[in-house]
Amino acid sequence: MNIGDLAELEAKRLEALDRYDILDTPPEESFDRIGRMIRRLLKVPMSIISFIDRDRQWYKASEGMGVLQVPRESSFCERTIESGLPLVVENAATDPRFADNPYVTGDPGVRFYLSVPLTTKDGFHIGTVCAVDTEPREVGANDIELLSEFAEMVMDELELRDRATRDALTGCLSRRALRDEASRTIALSLRHGLPLSLIALDLDHFKSVNDTFGHAAGDEVLKAAANTVAGTMRRSDVLGRLGGEEFAVLLPNTDLAGAFEAAERMRNTLAERQVDIGAGRTVAVTASFGVAAIGNGIEDIDALLAQADEGLYIAKRSGRNRSAAAS
Ligand code: GH3
Ligand code: MG
Ligand code: MG
Repeated sequence: MNIGDLAELEAKRLEALDRYDILDTPPEESFDRIGRMIRRLLKVPMSIISFIDRDRQWYKASEGMGVLQVPRESSFCERTIESGLPLVVENAATDPRFADNPYVTGDPGVRFYLSVPLTTKDGFHIGTVCAVDTEPREVGANDIELLSEFAEMVMDELELRDRATRDALTGCLSRRALRDEASRTIALSLRHGLPLSLIALDLDHFKSVNDTFGHAAGDEVLKAAANTVAGTMRRSDVLGRLGGEEFAVLLPNTDLAGAFEAAERMRNTLAERQVDIGAGRTVAVTASFGVAAIGNGIEDIDALLAQADEGLYIAKRSGRNRSAAAS
């Protein structure tokens, strides 16, 4: 494979990882439990459940390790991700691949290291589960099989979390998940004096799409609208479906003027798009946008949503297919 193909594959792998929204989340009992079972069944003092981000290996569960992430270049698991195969290191100190690794020469003094990849349904290796010991040892007959089963449990757990937080039709965050995410981000932004905005959008005359072309066509339009909006967002922006044909975008680190610009970009891109609803037919759809920012007494998600909704109402009342902010 050439460098371009590798870079593209890595970009797709990171996208697959992104879909789970797992990076930098707090410890969770469901993952800690799997870590405990690994230690007990493989009889090792340390276990890791980790995800491989762009330039770091981030630990979701890491009893006994004492660190939360390591730079990707000194990660053992890089090789597991590359090959998609289990990695067996019986004694890292005498293994030329790892003998000079800082986690072998220094703390915690890794010797035995067994890891298997976490692989998505579409074949991307997004992380690893590992059994680690500070003593050298031989890999047991069933160790790889056991660890592979735990890797499957971790993937099941991720899929479950994902389903509960995503809207089944459009794939964007559910209302609840968006509110949770917004609450966390608002608190963080207020604490650090950073701007944060929210855009609420509602498709125009959507009822007539359903009435004219049928509910299935309406569903296609909803999916296309969500896709179009997502395509104009920054990586750090978050799209959620509030319900029906109403969506919201959370824009961290963005002030009201920036959010207004983003809303106009979304509005224009959507208005230019012809949505394919099958049988050679297409539909054009527009949306109205309301924009709001934190500050001036707006300090929680309910207030922010209400303010954005007020802007949305103004946009609807003054003719639709436009963006507005309530003063
Ligand atoms: P306005 O420009 O004022 O927003 O008009 P509108 O027709 O978009 O607004 P209204 O709230 O009257 O209609 C929303 C419609 O969205 C009615 C509802 O049946 C439809 N709808 C809600 N959820 C779904 C869905 O999941 N799929 C489809 N196809 N339609 C949906
Ligand atoms: Mg509508
Ligand atoms: Mg509506």
